[in-house]
Amino acid sequence: MSKTFWQSPNLRRARMSCGATLLLSITGFIAGCKASGTDNHTNTASGATVASHLAAQPQVPDDGLPAESTGGFDGKLAYGHVAKQVSFGPRPSGSQAILQVQDYIASQLTSSSCTVDTDSFSADTPAGRLPMKNIVVKIPGERQGIILLATHYDTKRLDNFVGADDSGSSTGVMLEMARQLCGKHGRYAVWIAFFDGEEAVRKEWQDPDNRYGSRQLAARMGMSGDLKRVQAMILADLVGGKTLRIKREQNSTKALVDLIWGTAKRLGYGEIFIDQTTPVDDDHLSFLQRGVPSADIIDLENSAGYWHTPQDTLDKISAKSLGIVGHVILESVKELQTR
Ligand SMILES: [Zn+2]
Repeated sequence: MSKTFWQSPNLRRARMSCGATLLLSITGFIAGCKASGTDNHTNTASGATVASHLAAQPQVPDDGLPAESTGGFDGKLAYGHVAKQVSFGPRPSGSQAILQVQDYIASQLTSSSCTVDTDSFSADTPAGRLPMKNIVVKIPGERQGIILLATHYDTKRLDNFVGADDSGSSTGVMLEMARQLCGKHGRYAVWIAFFDGEEAVRKEWQDPDNRYGSRQLAARMGMSGDLKRVQAMILADLVGGKTLRIKREQNSTKALVDLIWGTAKRLGYGEIFIDQTTPVDDDHLSFLQRGVPSADIIDLENSAGYWHTPQDTLDKISAKSLGIVGHVILESVKELQTR
């Protein structure tokens, strides 16, 4: 990467591929992963059993931390969700493959006993009118406030782009997050949004050809009155790399970034959540623009070598990184629940 590129105010993310070789190499793992999903009917104590089941599969990377060391959040389970998404191939908005991802997300959320709201809509894009769907987990709280977590699950419209890191990683983290949180009622509601249509249909990132799903949810919540209930919006994107260095995203709300990065430091992840800054355009902008405190957890620089290329494949993903990011988000939510 060039320094000039990274200084661009409109850094955006990822694209293409996965060959037959990779698909063959993960087939065994996916079979195990699928079985583990059906084992996991509750959102509570079955993680250890499922994790050991996953660990028995030879294709699982051995860098995953024990869930006990990451606040119960299981990075290996999150990794399994990434592998499953990659197995569907390229998943741009409006494709057949994205329907499989939607079904997979829905089935996993059902397994975790989550209450789910789906919003099917269509968006006018440079490729014509495309069907899209937002999937939103809604965990009730005792008070009015909402803590909103989010990821996107569509992949960039590029030949052979399977998006293991973009958007498989953050979607895997949020599926495991749902398993952790569904059924646990806190002071505030927690919503977990899975956005369609984050990626620009055109090659370049140029408004309004991007963030279709997050703009839809923000608008819908604005209409319903729910938007003003949102106390914090935490977005994850590109969080699966093996040598994560997550900078403070400059557009994000400083107080919320301070809370997340402070939590990471307290947990011992100060070398991953670093104090340098970088600007990134992402789904959080849809909420920032409507006055919602929002933060983006994204490592676009670490992924520079494969971002929006055919090399964004499963071998780039670390179960350890997924576990650490999940731990930080989980503890940040706990912190927000005390405010
Ligand atoms: Zn991308």
